Amino acid sequence: LEKTLAIIKPDGLFGNYTDDIKGTILEQGFSIVKEKNVQLDEATVKTFYAEHSSKGFFPSLIKYMTSGPVLLMVLEKDNAIADWRALMGPTDASKAKITHPHSIRAKCGLDTEKNCVHGSDSPKSALREITFFFRELSAD
Ligand code: ATP
Ligand code: MG
Repeated sequence: LEKTLAIIKPDGLFGNYTDDIKGTILEQGFSIVKEKNVQLDEATVKTFYAEHSSKGFFPSLIKYMTSGPVLLMVLEKDNAIADWRALMGPTDASKAKITHPHSIRAKCGLDTEKNCVHGSDSPKSALREITFFFRELSAD
């Protein structure tokens, strides 16, 4: 079984989408191995999204991700990384509404930035991201 890091971003929590999203996660055969509700600070978001530090949207991304609490979850199932990315839909939620109407971002997101959920994009980033937020799982 494979693990991935999922985040319900501040707009997801503010919009009361948590129960819906978790229902979809369980329905699709994932188990929620760990979860933690946290308010991220700037330093944490900067490190987490370090790969985007040179992009123009970086300051705005930090503001967004620290605008309220997030729900961190470790999801587990066969092919969890790709399957969770598919369930989320494309980064731009406004496009997702047209091309992937049943995706989570289509239902809960707004645009390229406020897209409601995060998912690790590779086995390497899944390991990095899970270890980053849940140190005690780093050995699996
Ligand atoms: P995530 O990494 O959050 O799962 P992703 O892999 O689909 O999303 P990335 O390209 O890694 O997208 O971008 C990380 C996050 O930065 C996006 O989810 C979004 O919140 C924000 N973002 C990405 N591109 C833009 C953009 N052009 N303008 C504003 N915000 C952006
Ligand atoms: Mg990404």
